[in-house]
Amino acid sequence: MLLGLCGAICSGKHAVADYLIQKEGFRLLKLKDVSSLRVTDEADGDRQLQAVEFAEDESSPPPHLIFEDSKALLDFVTKRWQEHWVTTDIWDVTILDRFFQRPFFLLVSVDAPVSLRWKRFVDRCRDRLVEPPPLEKFVLWNDRHLYDKNVGRAYLTDRAQVRLFNSSSSFDELHAALKALNLADEERLRPNWDQYFMELASLAAQRSNCMKRRVGCVLVRDRRVISTGYNGTPRHIRNCNEGGCPRCNRGEGGGVGLSTCLCLHAEENALLEAGRERIREGAILYCDTCPCLTCTVKITQVGITEVVYSQGYNMDNDSAAILKAAGVKLRQFSPPRKGLIYLESSGGTN
Ligand SMILES: [Zn+2]
Ligand SMILES: [Zn+2]
Ligand SMILES: [Zn+2]
Repeated sequence: MLLGLCGAICSGKHAVADYLIQKEGFRLLKLKDVSSLRVTDEADGDRQLQAVEFAEDESSPPPHLIFEDSKALLDFVTKRWQEHWVTTDIWDVTILDRFFQRPFFLLVSVDAPVSLRWKRFVDRCRDRLVEPPPLEKFVLWNDRHLYDKNVGRAYLTDRAQVRLFNSSSSFDELHAALKALNLADEERLRPNWDQYFMELASLAAQRSNCMKRRVGCVLVRDRRVISTGYNGTPRHIRNCNEGGCPRCNRGEGGGVGLSTCLCLHAEENALLEAGRERIREGAILYCDTCPCLTCTVKITQVGITEVVYSQGYNMDNDSAAILKAAGVKLRQFSPPRKGLIYLESSGGTN
């Protein structure tokens, strides 16, 4: 795999790269003369300070491989993608797009509180006998580094598939957190089947027009999608969110007046769309919410073999009992949560 690291000044992306190189068998790939591509930052004459930022790279131990350009780097990894490679040299959006075309590329962003990043920067300046900047100057410099329309890097962190927040106060703590995280896990590159179908169900849910709750469902057999469904009013009836179902629009508690509801459930829609003939033995129903009792009865009748759900509902036990009695497997699978991952030991307060 090729792991790309990006992030704000002194967020710790090089510390993460060093960990991967020292502990997880990654090798560093660099682009030749990268600093010349960053001259746009020099307008305000902060050359000395920038020298301190660029010098981060020196901490990476040899041996590393240096390439003329990103195409050469990518060609190299394409032939050896099953080994572990890491780079911090992604400098523009065309390079990023090119990397994202490959199935072995993972973009990881690293961020940290600005106060902590400034402290790290001040320490680094002192190590190098350079006068450190005041916090205000550092903040302005950071704003430009991330959000300047021409040179800002926010487009990188925006597209990261894994987003790390490095607030750890020591390398030991950082290393322990990274070890637990296991960035090299190849499941990060491609979703497994459960993840794939559950995310399709969640995508279907986004089309829901029901005022009560968005639900999505996917019917699968032999790892192929038979049909999809989401909840809402039937064909030719006004959408629920446009007033089509008076019951849903009254906003009463879950389960109240259920028998007067006009909305079809996601599971019902997926079952109706597939038809009994196409369902047969071995069909799996993925639903982002555990089926209600009336859907459960229908699921049982059409011969579904397994139900996989992500979130619980308020009648899970009743549904589970029916499915069990009918010999239908029931399993909960919740896809890994996306969002910021805190790199600190559990219970840490720094
Ligand atoms: Zn509704
Ligand atoms: Zn309704
Ligand atoms: Zn239902």
